[in-house]
Amino acid sequence: MTTTVGVLALQGDVREHLAALRSVGAAAVPVRRVAELAACDALVLPGGESTTMVKLAATFELLAPLREAVRAGLPVLGTCAGMILLADRVEDAATGQETVGGLHVTVRRNAFGRQVDSFEEDLRVTGLADPVRAVFIRAPWVEQVDDDVEVLARVATGPAVGRIVAVRQGPLMATSFHPEVGGDDRVHGMFVDLVRSA
Ligand code: GLN
Repeated sequence: MTTTVGVLALQGDVREHLAALRSVGAAAVPVRRVAELAACDALVLPGGESTTMVKLAATFELLAPLREAVRAGLPVLGTCAGMILLADRVEDAATGQETVGGLHVTVRRNAFGRQVDSFEEDLRVTGLADPVRAVFIRAPWVEQVDDDVEVLARVATGPAVGRIVAVRQGPLMATSFHPEVGGDDRVHGMFVDLVRSA
């Protein structure tokens, strides 16, 4: 059976996620409307700018349906800004910044600071045999996780060593980095496997 994965297509790096999902055998569709969301087996919240994305979601009347879908158990992968959107709690949020929520973590926005706006690292991710070349761009990290959240990856080098940058909680997955960049589709593969086993 085909697995249909939507990519929230209001803002951010939508095309790259669609391509990565297709390359791991999923049917990938952009999502801008409630009816499109309802037709999906799973959803990706892409990287971009979290305050813009959440405002657009509200404007497109998608915020409440997204919250409802997560509550109902829809598998969701949030990357970078998408991780912020999925988090229950955000540190250094913009004033009044809302999230979709559902992931029982505290995320710190723009956590790596100005000196290290962007960096790359070969990151060990639980469930993947070889490290992933992880690209971080004004990335958040996970400051705190509740007991039901599994940590999948921590930064191994540099000033942010030990910081949590990938997590899973049931059908929800989130990464601080951009797995859709660089042609390595194993994180998307992991997510689609998760969707198929859910
Ligand atoms: N800093 C951005 C935000 O707060 C996230 C950056 C990204 O997605 N590359 O939304």
